Amino acid sequence: MLDKRLFYINGAWVAPAKARDCAVINPSTEEPCAVISLGDQADTDAAVAAAKAAFPAWAATPPAERARLVAKILDQYNARLQEFAEAISMEMGAPIDFALSDQAPCLPWHTVNFLKAFERIEWIRPLDPSIPRDRAQPAVAMEPIGVVGLITPWNWPVNQIALKAIPAMLAGCTCVLKPSEESPLNAMLFAEFCHDAGIPPGVFNLVNGDGMGVGSQLSTHPDVEMISFTGSTRAGRAISKAAAETLKRVTLELGGKGANVLFADADAKAVERSVRRMMENTGQSCNAPSRLLVERSVYDQTIEKAVAVAESIKVGPAHEHGAHIGPVVNKRQWDQIQGYIQKGIDEGARLVTGGPGLPDGFNRGFYVKPTIFADVKPGMTIEKEEIFGPVLCMIPFETEEEAIRIANDTPYGLTNYVQSGDPARSNRMARALRAGMIEMNGKSRGAGSFFGGVKQSGRAREGGIWGIEEFLEPKGISGYDFTLDVAAE
Ligand code: NAD
Repeated sequence: MLDKRLFYINGAWVAPAKARDCAVINPSTEEPCAVISLGDQADTDAAVAAAKAAFPAWAATPPAERARLVAKILDQYNARLQEFAEAISMEMGAPIDFALSDQAPCLPWHTVNFLKAFERIEWIRPLDPSIPRDRAQPAVAMEPIGVVGLITPWNWPVNQIALKAIPAMLAGCTCVLKPSEESPLNAMLFAEFCHDAGIPPGVFNLVNGDGMGVGSQLSTHPDVEMISFTGSTRAGRAISKAAAETLKRVTLELGGKGANVLFADADAKAVERSVRRMMENTGQSCNAPSRLLVERSVYDQTIEKAVAVAESIKVGPAHEHGAHIGPVVNKRQWDQIQGYIQKGIDEGARLVTGGPGLPDGFNRGFYVKPTIFADVKPGMTIEKEEIFGPVLCMIPFETEEEAIRIANDTPYGLTNYVQSGDPARSNRMARALRAGMIEMNGKSRGAGSFFGGVKQSGRAREGGIWGIEEFLEPKGISGYDFTLDVAAE
């Protein structure tokens, strides 16, 4: 078992102020694989103090130098990819091949895109950009907000760390990361990458802990200017309230209940694509297309195809190679998903594959059968609430208007999906669906795009230039002399 009790503060691995051990459980085996410490107020204070002390020098470091150091994190990643992927796989249950191909590479994908977007930031410019730079002009400077607290979940752990820590550091902020206590090991490796890349002491700090401890200490800390949070809507609400006292900027990436509207003219791969996307990462993605709305004329045949796809998806341990799905992250999550499956049955949805209990051949590990319910009615619990497991709800619709109404009738608004061969209708749907992101016919939203929701799915845009701007404050200056900058260049 790995001993990972130390925290990374001010450029060094240090012992916690008070010993409070927490086991990291491997969800494939239910065995502990590591022990970490849960931080205390003194640890949070030490990390915030280190970040505060490091802020003036880091904010004043030329942007190109910050970018050079941040880019060096990727050298460390490349050298230690296997170890990094194994940590993710062991702690949160992503099958090793998926951890190598999809989970771990979120770090280089986002970093490369951020570095490109970073070149487009204008650190100081005339208020009216069309006016030539001259003496004593109104100007706008972009400045880092200060010390930021980064609180992340376990489901795509590297993705969330990369979407926060990389732009924060590029922007000139200093940070304290509190990763999920379920998946701290990859975060601790990321801290090692930062250290070995030469990120100066205090710029990046890591304190492990739980939500009620380090999470809430960061959210209320007077020296933390901003909290960047990804996780459940419940915790997002608690953090917003806690941060209100010190009026922090709070960015929130929260839960979802994605609608995937499939029309009769969708392409031949649409059903398979939709089911696989739902089951990917064992259904533990905030943007999972968990409500499949199907045009009535193709409803029965779509159910048949969807069941065949779900039944072809294998379930297996995370350490085994192959294209299977792994267990869900922990017992709490497993119990919650089982509760939803039972609720679906009790409320009268039609279980067409999967269902309660462990899949055949398993008596240990938090495995769930890929499950599909048909004839789900708007308003049923499984249609309304985020299940966060491999459970797909199928809902028939008659008209485009009805599909839009069902899709939008949710407190969430993260990613919605459209499957249709009619470009005019696809465009109409993309504009009518209320969500931060719309994915059409399996097409990617593009490198350098952002991630973010509306309504109770959050208030933020992470990724690309938007994700860097979240960590910046515009400063208005009434009489800036640009000729001095030109002279200094
Ligand atoms: P969670 O909210 O339980 O925990 C997320 C993080 O917040 C953890 O680090 C946890 O320790 C911390 N936390 C919990 N309560 C807190 C509190 N009161 N104060 C401060 N910190 C607190 O979520 P989870 O179970 O780790 O992740 C699953 C959830 O995350 C799902 O709802 C999912 O939809 C959401 N999610 C959203 C996105 C997105 O970008 N929108 C991405 C991934 C996951």
